[in-house]
Amino acid sequence: MISVVIPVFNEAENIPVLDAEISSVMHAIEHTYEIIFIDDGSQDATLPKIRGLSNPNVRFVSFSRNFGKEAALLAGLKMARGDAIVIMDGDMQHPPSLIPDLIRPYEAGFDQVVAKRNKVEEPLSRRLPSKLFYRLMNVTSTVKLVDGEGDFRLISRKVADAILLLSENNRFSKGIFEWVGFNKTVVEFDHIKRGSGISTFNPLKLLDYAIDGISAFNHRPLRSCFYLGLVVLVISLIYILYMFVNIMFNGIDVPGYFTIIASLLLLGSIQLFSLGIIGEYVGRIYIETKDRPKYIIETSSDSDLAQGGHHG
Ligand code: UDP
Ligand code: MG
Repeated sequence: MISVVIPVFNEAENIPVLDAEISSVMHAIEHTYEIIFIDDGSQDATLPKIRGLSNPNVRFVSFSRNFGKEAALLAGLKMARGDAIVIMDGDMQHPPSLIPDLIRPYEAGFDQVVAKRNKVEEPLSRRLPSKLFYRLMNVTSTVKLVDGEGDFRLISRKVADAILLLSENNRFSKGIFEWVGFNKTVVEFDHIKRGSGISTFNPLKLLDYAIDGISAFNHRPLRSCFYLGLVVLVISLIYILYMFVNIMFNGIDVPGYFTIIASLLLLGSIQLFSLGIIGEYVGRIYIETKDRPKYIIETSSDSDLAQGGHHG
């Protein structure tokens, strides 16, 4: 059985379309399936529309308010009962007609099948920040993300169970999908303009998202304090030494200058440096509190070990 998990926030118009298209696709390939809608606190007719569907394969949950797409995804994964789970957006940017192309590699043995959006002509104002985001994310983090590989993907039961082992509250799913690993393949599809409704993302949200992504996977931003402090400390020590030697040979030209500058530089850099040391500890606490599994087992000779992931 295939579960199709769809977080929806104010997508009333798209609900019947999704239901019709997905069920006809699934009938065509003769797979049993379920569609799981997660109504993320929509203010429009999304929930009544879902309730109005006559398809017995539709299940849903409705949040008490808008908790964000990540929370909706998690709820959907927990609900899903399928052997494989297709995750897609509910705004028709992820074409249901692609689902068979995601299922085929899965049946050939892949655990993650990612639908990669082809290059799109987006305005520079949107392309540039996303480029910057991926660059920054990939230099600061151990998981590597690829532009265009979004949430439209199929994951096997094993992958879903592994993802559910991650108990962290701040869930950055793009990174989590990569973090859990397993063998993965990519299927390309053409970018489609949004169906009805408007994208809820704006530049500020995008920046928020970037900060979440970068901070969810490492504490390097904190560590940069340490390095900055170290560099400033070394430079100021050299400068102080230079001034001192200069005074020894040429005498003082501005009284008080040396002591003020020297103490300012020293104190400043020592503070920055200490902040970096504190940052190291805070960073460690941060990583520990996530309590992620130390590893995830794919297969093992011992069948009891091979049941998905494990806390090490
Ligand atoms: N979504 C959600 N909660 C939110 C915002 C969005 O569940 O707070 C859903 C939305 O209904 C859609 C998907 O997440 O199905 C992607 O949202 P959107 O199209 O706005 O994002 P974009 O495609 O612009 O990245
Ligand atoms: Mg969209």
